[in-house]
Formats: sequence, C-alpha cells, structure tokens
Amino acid sequence: MIAENLHSLRLSIAKAQAGAPLAAPEITLVAASKQQPLDALQAALAAGVTDFGENRVQEAEAKWPKLLAAHPQARLHLIGGLQSNKALEAVRLFHAIHSLDRPRLADALAEAMRKEGRRPDCYIQVNTGEEPQKSGVAVREAEALIAYCKGLELPLAGLMCVPPPQAHPAPHFALLREMARAQGLAGLSIGMSGDYETAIRMGATVVRIGTALFGARVK
Ligand SMILES: *Cc1c(COP(=O)(O)O)cnc(C)c1O
Repeated sequence: MIAENLHSLRLSIAKAQAGAPLAAPEITLVAASKQQPLDALQAALAAGVTDFGENRVQEAEAKWPKLLAAHPQARLHLIGGLQSNKALEAVRLFHAIHSLDRPRLADALAEAMRKEGRRPDCYIQVNTGEEPQKSGVAVREAEALIAYCKGLELPLAGLMCVPPPQAHPAPHFALLREMARAQGLAGLSIGMSGDYETAIRMGATVVRIGTALFGARVK
C-alpha cells in the first residue's frame, strides 16, 4: 500500500515538474509521519523514503531514535510548532526545522546548535493567511525575523507556509516564493497532500505529504 502510494506520488511529482517553468529541478518528498505507527514508518523506510516529518518533539523522541540508528540515511524534519524550551531536544534529533517563527526561538536554536555542535537546516514559517491561531511569523514581520536569523548565523534554508484550509493555495505559495527570492533564500517548503502539485508548479523544493502516502492518520 505505502510502496504503491509512493510510486504514484513520485509519478505525479515528476508530472507536475515537467513543463513547469518555475518548478525546482530537485524536490524533497518529506513523508509527514505524525500519528503514524511504527509499522507504517518501517514500510515507508523499506519502500525507500528517506525524509520524514513529525510535528511534535516528544512524539518524535518516542518513535525515531532506534529507527534512525537502524537507518542512518534517514533525515527527520520538524514540521510542527516548536517551544523554545524544546530547542535543545529538537536540535539533537532533527535534521531540519520548518517552524522557526520568532526571535526568541531563533535565540534558543542558536544556543542549542552551539551546545550540540549540530546545525539542522532552518525554514522560517510565514503565516501567509494571517490566521490568528496558526504558527508562523506575520508577513510584515518576516523580513525582520530573517535578518535577525542571519545575524545569528543560523543555517537558513528557506521559507515554509501552510495556506488556510479553505483558501486557494496558489497566491500563498506565490507570496512565499517572492519573499524567498527577495531574501536570497533557495528553499520553499510548501505543498501537502491536497496541494502539492500546485506547490511544485510554483517552485516547491520540499513537499510535506502525509495522507496521500500513509492513508488517514491514526488518532
Ligand atoms: C500533517 C502535516 C502535513 C501533511 O499533511 P497531509 O495533508 O496529510 O499531507 C504537512 N505539513 C504540516 C505542517 C503538517 O502538520
């Protein structure tokens, strides 16, 4: 099941890429494995998935250390919000953090990276829909946060957003792409199961896909 889903995902990723002038040449498929049981993770690893996204540090700490030891090629991405007091644990475990959205967290990550001697790729999450309940820096504050992170010499890989569920995603991806271009950032972490083809046509370098790969999440 997961192997078949992966195969058809890869085909539709390639199809979305083909003939799309803005599409990135290399796209990383991050399997959003939050709330998925161990056997699903193992099936995905066996099928050749290398990148996995978790949205909670604690859940990832429970699921991943053994799997990472057995699969040293695997890379773990934090795609959910991060509390500053979990920065050290996050830097220890993750290879990329997609939810950097405030100066205090940038400080905590910089400090954790110094302590741990590890430098996970950082993506700044932008709340392009200005949704009050959603994480992500406000659009009008993003430039200042990017400058702040550059000042701390954080390894900034790019920008990330999650458009509002009811909205057409393309204008959100276009805004993020323009912000990244203006800031000289190459990475665009955009696109989920419902909108990854749009995201790829608009230049996604990372897509984060859960249900289209694993099926529904287990609560
Ligand atoms: C869960 C999640 C995804 C994947 O969502 P699907 O719709 O299942 O593909 C992507 N990004 C983030 C931030 C998530 O929390």
